[in-house]
Amino acid sequence: MESLEKENTDLRRSLRRLTTKVEQNEGVLRSFFDMEIRLFSCSTLAELLELILIEFRDHFHLSAVNLILFDPENAARDLLDEYIPPQPDHCLRFVDNQQLLKSLFPTQKLRIGELSPPLKSIAFPRSPYIFSSALLPLIRHNCLIGSLHLGSNDPARYNERLDCDYIDHLSSVIAVCIENCINQQNLKRLSIIDMLTKVYNRRAFDQEIIKELSRASRHETPLSCLFIDLDYFKLVNDSFGHQIGDKVLRAIGLLLKQNLRKTDFISRYGGEEFAILLPNCESEKAIQISEQLRKKIAHMVVHDNNNAPFRISASIGVTHCTSHSFHVNDLHAQAHALLKAADDAVYRAKEKGRNRIEYRALPAITAELLSQPNSKLRP
Ligand code: GH3
Ligand code: MG
Ligand code: MG
Repeated sequence: MESLEKENTDLRRSLRRLTTKVEQNEGVLRSFFDMEIRLFSCSTLAELLELILIEFRDHFHLSAVNLILFDPENAARDLLDEYIPPQPDHCLRFVDNQQLLKSLFPTQKLRIGELSPPLKSIAFPRSPYIFSSALLPLIRHNCLIGSLHLGSNDPARYNERLDCDYIDHLSSVIAVCIENCINQQNLKRLSIIDMLTKVYNRRAFDQEIIKELSRASRHETPLSCLFIDLDYFKLVNDSFGHQIGDKVLRAIGLLLKQNLRKTDFISRYGGEEFAILLPNCESEKAIQISEQLRKKIAHMVVHDNNNAPFRISASIGVTHCTSHSFHVNDLHAQAHALLKAADDAVYRAKEKGRNRIEYRALPAITAELLSQPNSKLRP
């Protein structure tokens, strides 16, 4: 009888232990599922990286989270232009070849447990208090695209006896999310970026000018607009070939990017024409900026196929508006008027001999102005 009672007590105890274990596992599973949904909801790479590099630490009670991404063509880095990774700076690294990743995952399999000192220095540089870890290979189409390192100061947290199914699953989800974010963002970029010069395209400009006019009117700030037309560009193509012409356009795109603010909007409006928006910029400042750009373009040296140097020049039209410039509430009409004034100014600069800037004040928008056909400015 006594032995039966003891057996019963033992059985109850085991059952309680098992129930607790099941509850714990359910908790872990729920926490993984919650995170999985959040991972799939990220629409940009920056958002995804914030989640992995910052929120994973709290969510999974980790001491360190580091990520290495294989980024041979700078596709990820290009999308992270304005992203500031969290500290320490080694928590996000990019590699141009797979050597390092292959040394972490020779068999492409998850690594769990304590790391050897050389591997630890790769996975967790300058983090002496990581006593156990999970290194997740991020694999897409059988190719290692990165490595995620989850580090704990608890030596028992990650050990060989751990059921790795969840972690394996998590690494697949993260790899898919990284690839999706990069592809989606690149697709969006393709629709708004001019591939030759890497500045925005006309489509993006047409959308941006409406946004900026609306913002300028809401905040009562000025908005300036520049139109840049390269001088005798046809002659560049005719003399040196189309490829050299393309090289000039690329160099102009770079020069504009390097010499304007991040908040300025640079676009290639057509063949050898660039349209620029300078938010919160008064006319005097816009004229000064245009003159600087004109000089920089005129001083730029390009080399032809025989490495012989040549120069080009540009005519720049400048105009500017404030919230009081418009008597109509139609943002498309305002955009049309602004562009027309800048284009008229370019025309005048050409007439006056090229390689110069001209300012054109914005005329009052009238019904006649709106009805004027203008094949270049009308969509
Ligand atoms: P102007 O000083 O009056 O502006 O003369 P221009 O020769 O610059 O003007 P025009 O409009 O006669 O010629 C523009 C040239 O730009 C013609 C075209 O072949 C060239 N062009 C347009 N798009 C591209 C391009 O993507 N690449 C190259 N290489 N040339 C282009
Ligand atoms: Mg032109
Ligand atoms: Mg031209």
